[in-house]
Parts: sequence; structure tokens; C-alpha cells
Amino acid sequence: MSYCCGAGMIGTIGSVRHQRTLVRNVPILFCPVCDRTEVHPKIEGEYEILVEYAHGDHAPEVDFNDFVNIDHREDLFDNCTMIDDGGSMDDILRQQIDIALDLLGVAKALQDEEWRNALKDRLQRLSERLKQYNKRKEISQRSA
Ligand SMILES: [Zn+2]
Repeated sequence: MSYCCGAGMIGTIGSVRHQRTLVRNVPILFCPVCDRTEVHPKIEGEYEILVEYAHGDHAPEVDFNDFVNIDHREDLFDNCTMIDDGGSMDDILRQQIDIALDLLGVAKALQDEEWRNALKDRLQRLSERLKQYNKRKEISQRSA
């Protein structure tokens, strides 16, 4: 599992902007708490080569999928939660909230104030995120 600010990072395929080039279909990891996104460490080498190539070519947009076959890289997301179709985002957020709640119990028992506060902060962000996500889902269902 990859971690960022204590929360588990979520694996997905997304677009990454690198200076003037938009790279599509890149395996990425993102943190649901602070929104940090990073290119998946296992394909970072390939990503850098592609970006350099796109840069030299002045390509405004490239598709990572066209250059690197990730179909046979099931191991890519072995160590993190994966979103395959976006539909499970609220499940993942709920999972992370459960984990944070469990940890909060531990921090309480240990009387670790600093950790407790950090976890409370994380819980708040995760539940805000879940609220936002559900709101967005409602809107898109209504307009569909
Ligand atoms: Zn983070």
C-alpha cells in the first residue's frame, strides 16, 4: 500500500499535465485527503521518456496507452486500492473513513493527542470528500 499523509493512496488511470503536454491514460496514484497526485512509481521511467519525446515533438497531447502496454501489468495496482470505473469511489472513501475511525480508537486508547488530532482532520476531509462526491453523483443522475 502506498501512503500519503497517513491515508492510503488510490490507484487509477488519469490524465497528467506536464508543462504544455497533456498525457492521457497514465496510471496514477492520488491521495483522497490532500489531493496529491503522482505518476505511478512503476511506470515513472516510461512516463518520463514519453514526456520528453512529446516535448521534443511539441505534441499538445499524447496517450500513454499508445506507447506503453499496461494491459499485462495487473501487478501495477497490487499495493493500493484501485478504481476501475469510478463507480466505487464512495466505497473507497467509506473504507478509508472506517480505517481512520479504527485508528482514532487506538489513538484515544494510547492518549496520543497529536495523532488523534491528525486523524480527526483526516476524517473531516474524507467525509467532506464523500459529501461532495455524492452531491456530484446526484447532479449527474438528475441531468441524465
Ligand atoms: Zn495526502
